[in-house]
Amino acid sequence: MNTKTAPILVTGATGYIASWVIKQLLEKGHTVHTTVRDLNKKKSFAHLEKIAAQSSGSLQLFQANLLEANSFDTAMQGCEIVIHMASPFLVTNYKDAVKDIIEPAIIGTENVLNSVNRTDSVRRVVVTSSIASTYGDAIDIQHTAHNQFDESHWNTTSSETHQPYPYSKVMAERKAWEMQKAQNRWSLVCVNPALVLGPSLTAMTKSGSVEVLEQFANGMTLAGVPPMWNGIVDVRDVADAHLEAAFNPNAEGRYIISGGTLSLLEMGQILRRHFGPKFPFPRNQLPKAAFKLFGPLAGFSKSFVELNMGYPIYFNADKSKKELGIHYRNIEASLVEHFQQLLDDGVVKKYIP
Ligand code: NAP
Repeated sequence: MNTKTAPILVTGATGYIASWVIKQLLEKGHTVHTTVRDLNKKKSFAHLEKIAAQSSGSLQLFQANLLEANSFDTAMQGCEIVIHMASPFLVTNYKDAVKDIIEPAIIGTENVLNSVNRTDSVRRVVVTSSIASTYGDAIDIQHTAHNQFDESHWNTTSSETHQPYPYSKVMAERKAWEMQKAQNRWSLVCVNPALVLGPSLTAMTKSGSVEVLEQFANGMTLAGVPPMWNGIVDVRDVADAHLEAAFNPNAEGRYIISGGTLSLLEMGQILRRHFGPKFPFPRNQLPKAAFKLFGPLAGFSKSFVELNMGYPIYFNADKSKKELGIHYRNIEASLVEHFQQLLDDGVVKKYIP
């Protein structure tokens, strides 16, 4: 592969994670082709043009929409590596799960990979999947042999109506593997990150990562958090993993990318230690029974509460350490840095009691 001179396509330039991937590629001197939904929304990619101007690489922007067939053909011309990241990551911020999340994820993956099939130069595709593609509900941890999810696990329980975001990720990843197996020109590597935290290069992202942190600042969790746990990873480690997945000829299969697990209560305690009483960070963990009674009022369905509260979850990231050489950053520091950044950018406001 002539990877140093051939352009590399990254879909979804405006994204929180994609911005870090593009920055790293530009700083290594690569030519990056990248797509945005609307080239007129210049503010959404201004940060990347600034980074490109200060780096040895070069950046070329294209307009493409996941839901339009052939949309990625022009951007992909001459590329040997395609990193497909664009996909909606919405936690609560959506109206219609099928139209807003599931269709862009699955149809989008199919459209991008159809373009790959039409573009003879492509040799390696990296798809940004998620740990959500390895399990559906936290209770699934009980079926694992070592109390950890790993790359052998698949989410078999999510659906359009139950856990639509995880469903979008597992179905998109399955579509990618199905299309890869139907040909023999390009290899596929899937990157499956935990909840991504750490400083953002853009204040404009609507990533679910930001949504999760906003809930700690807007008073929603003041009365107490549910007994729930998150696998967490720093955004810069996720970017490193994508570059390894793209360039390392030995990279193969799926890679869980996770720096560790924190409960929502632990996250609140860390934030309180660093940012003090200016914010309504949670002090308590409420019992599952409380959410069984009042959960529906807070937007938690009975089945979600039953299957996801009270089960600590853990992820085995050994494969990424061994094969991709990832050295994970401290996730507490990632959480603190990310919150500080949201504060500096005015995305979260100081709490006035
Ligand atoms: P993000 O900042 O919200 O980025 C999502 C990107 O997808 C944006 O660039 C968005 O473009 C693009 N997109 C959405 N719908 C589109 C459409 N119909 N056509 C074209 N582009 C579209 O989210 P992120 O956190 O960086 O997530 C990036 C990827 O990582 C996603 O695949 C997500 O599932 C995955 N992931 C994220 C996390 C996490 O914790 N953040 C964890 C695991 C996996 P616009 O600017 O036009 O909206």
